[in-house]
Amino acid sequence: MAQKKVVSARRERMREVIRLLKLEYPDAHCALHHRNAFELLVATILSAQCTDERVNLVTPKLFHRFPDAKSMSQASLSELEKLIQSTGFYKNKAISLKTTAGLLMERHEGQVPSDLEALTALRGVGRKTANVIRGTIFGLPAIVVDTHVGRLSRRLGFTRHHDPVKVEFEMMEITESADWTISNHLLIDHGRAVCQARKPDCGSCVLKELCPKVGVPKT
Ligand code: SF4
Repeated sequence: MAQKKVVSARRERMREVIRLLKLEYPDAHCALHHRNAFELLVATILSAQCTDERVNLVTPKLFHRFPDAKSMSQASLSELEKLIQSTGFYKNKAISLKTTAGLLMERHEGQVPSDLEALTALRGVGRKTANVIRGTIFGLPAIVVDTHVGRLSRRLGFTRHHDPVKVEFEMMEITESADWTISNHLLIDHGRAVCQARKPDCGSCVLKELCPKVGVPKT
């Protein structure tokens, strides 16, 4: 019973968090530049341990050279490595891109699937990447727990977990499914602009009245 009350209070607080963040970031959207599902899949694989800005600098040349799964599956690893070198872990990422493009050709006629299992069966694609694709491309409700979403969820007292999958399930429980995808973009924007990892600017934060770090009791 007590747990039900906690969940219900968190739901209410989350609803208000989303309402306020929608006002603050009316243009919140996926920051990775892409024109289709294939490009977003590639950009998201490259974004592991790398900033979106850095990925956006690299992808125009990469997509010009390899615009689809067919061409990328036939790419030489050395050329791929050269094109994506500045995103870090480029040797592994090049193998992931080529292997995933090959698997798209073999299993999905070169198209990106929407199914979670089919997505996570690709190389370099975990739940986070799969959920980015499902939410942004296919409009399916999906919570993406990246470093910002994880940090804000903890600071706002919605979870104590550090395991992204556990955070994802707790956040799904307290967030309206219609808001799952937009909540990612809102929390990411707020994490970048105000609630930064090292120096959260609580004084100017629109969520301060709702945040246990500043004052409200934890629920
Ligand atoms: S009040 Fe501080 S810790 Fe809480 S969400 Fe805002 S910036 Fe982050």
